Amino acid sequence: MNTVLKTVILGAPGSGKGTISSRIIKAFNMDYISSGDRLRQHIKEKTPIGLEASKYIKDGKLVPDDLMIKFISEELKKVKSKPWLLDGFPRTLFQAQAFWKEEKLDLAVNLVVPFSVIMERVEGRMVHLQSGRVYNSSFNIPKVPGVDDVTGEPLIKREDDKPEVVKKRLEVYDKMTRPVIEFYREKGILKDFHGETSDAISPQVLKELSNYMRLEGSQ
Ligand code: AMP
Repeated sequence: MNTVLKTVILGAPGSGKGTISSRIIKAFNMDYISSGDRLRQHIKEKTPIGLEASKYIKDGKLVPDDLMIKFISEELKKVKSKPWLLDGFPRTLFQAQAFWKEEKLDLAVNLVVPFSVIMERVEGRMVHLQSGRVYNSSFNIPKVPGVDDVTGEPLIKREDDKPEVVKKRLEVYDKMTRPVIEFYREKGILKDFHGETSDAISPQVLKELSNYMRLEGSQ
């Protein structure tokens, strides 16, 4: 067998993409390629690509398409022997089209969470900066309001979790990603997963992926 399952996950900020991705890679022992994480790693190591990309990232801009496509192709060369899940790439239609010429994906997982649910979720989110522990005022409530359960230190609200900022991020996501979603829909590999929480969506995604794994294993 020389095929590996090639998947991408798409979902708005606050859609639970991180949580669901970690459940997928754990369940199927997949390689996880998060474009943002990989770029941050390169920046930390001061590689040529990291130095180039940091110029854009520090201004909150997208890294240019051609640089991104080259970068992801290089990263994928390192993981070819295992099924993989790509997160954060492609972010533009151009990236999706160019990447398709190099890699024919098997499945694009599209997380569809209502806008109002995302707004509510991030509005109630509080974090303990030092540890990264995340709380929520409606479903993951700290024992003492505004205080980290473990250390007793204060929780803060992230700048980019403020309602007006979240709304803007969601609009930008929608504008950039809608054409990518349509591109994969036309290719016949897009699957929508609807729900309000990661616990509701994850089982659907895992079930779908296990069908693909079976198919792959039987080739
Ligand atoms: P993230 O952690 O996914 O939000 O990515 C952090 C930053 O890396 C983004 O704000 C972009 O500057 C850059 N980045 C990550 N993925 C891409 C991509 N597919 N295209 C362009 N820039 C990207």
